[in-house]
Amino acid sequence: MSLMMPKEFLEVKEILAVPKNIVIVPHRNADGDAIGSSLAMYHYLTDKKHRVKVVSPNTYPDFLKWLPASDTVIQYDHQNRQSKRAIDNADVIFLLDFNDLSRVGEDMEGYLKNYKGVFIMIDHHQQPSDVARFLYTDTAVCATAQMLYQFLENLDDVDAITPEIATCIYTGILTDSGSFRFPTTTPKTHLVAADLIKRGAKNSLIYNKIYDTNSYGRVQLLGQALKNLRIIKEYNTAYITITEKEKKTNDFQKGDTEGIVNYALSVKGIVLGVLFIEDQEQKIIKISFRSKGDFSVNQFARNHYDGGGHDNAAGGRSEESMQKTIDRFIGLLPQYKDKLDHSYEV
Ligand code: 5GP
Ligand code: MN
Repeated sequence: MSLMMPKEFLEVKEILAVPKNIVIVPHRNADGDAIGSSLAMYHYLTDKKHRVKVVSPNTYPDFLKWLPASDTVIQYDHQNRQSKRAIDNADVIFLLDFNDLSRVGEDMEGYLKNYKGVFIMIDHHQQPSDVARFLYTDTAVCATAQMLYQFLENLDDVDAITPEIATCIYTGILTDSGSFRFPTTTPKTHLVAADLIKRGAKNSLIYNKIYDTNSYGRVQLLGQALKNLRIIKEYNTAYITITEKEKKTNDFQKGDTEGIVNYALSVKGIVLGVLFIEDQEQKIIKISFRSKGDFSVNQFARNHYDGGGHDNAAGGRSEESMQKTIDRFIGLLPQYKDKLDHSYEV
């Protein structure tokens, strides 16, 4: 693994100077940043005459399917043979918006582990594993999509950004920065966004397509989730549960729970917000953690929930029932009381 410095960017530039077979892989359950980054890279490389396939581990939310070239994405779980063939033939594989192979799911992880070509990883999560020949990472950057813009800056090729590429990168930044409100949003983020708008990203339209396309069921599920919100005042903590039954009742579609955890954190004084979602298919409780200030949910998720992520946004899982998961979670809080009290000026 080599962290990318000017020398490595030159090397990558050389590798990409001749048309190649390239595969792009986002993480499992891809979000706006993972898919936005993947499709931006797809357009960039296709424009350079490479033969490119985005191989997504599984499906991704419908509200991202309008993105240009979304219809070319293949899914490893459903188009398995085609996906494996693309991987076998790839000279280069880009790994985008994740930093450990386990994030693509067990089957695909096993397959990628045997890949002998060149991995290029672009990401912004903490504690990257040593998997890629080239690693471009910065945990201070709000989105992999912004890293991708900077990647093009380093290749001295920002002028290659078409309206399609601008749209995809803008989508990644918009979604991963919480619409430019998370603390990782910097002057650079706004400068990049401004340049993307200049280059053809229709910012208002993109916002509408991502956030104003709720189904009736999704809004009803949000209502149920808000009813389920519980506050543990002593620990500045709020949590929400969503059961499999509640998902079914409200015509659940993939992506419908995205963003709900933020309502836990929106309650005044709350430092730690958590969302527990029952997932019958995987037989787990999927957990989302969000925090304010210096309470690191990345560390919390790593310590207790086989997960990780960022300091203020992380995920994990529990293999116990919903009730047991919540009981165990509440049982953990006393050892963090001091941190939860002093994480943030409330
Ligand atoms: P979310 O709560 O939206 O699923 O995830 C929040 C952040 O944590 C995302 O950046 C995501 O990539 C990361 N994350 C979510 N689940 C996991 C996990 O199981 N392991 C690790 N390492 N990161 C996760
Ligand atoms: Mn991301």
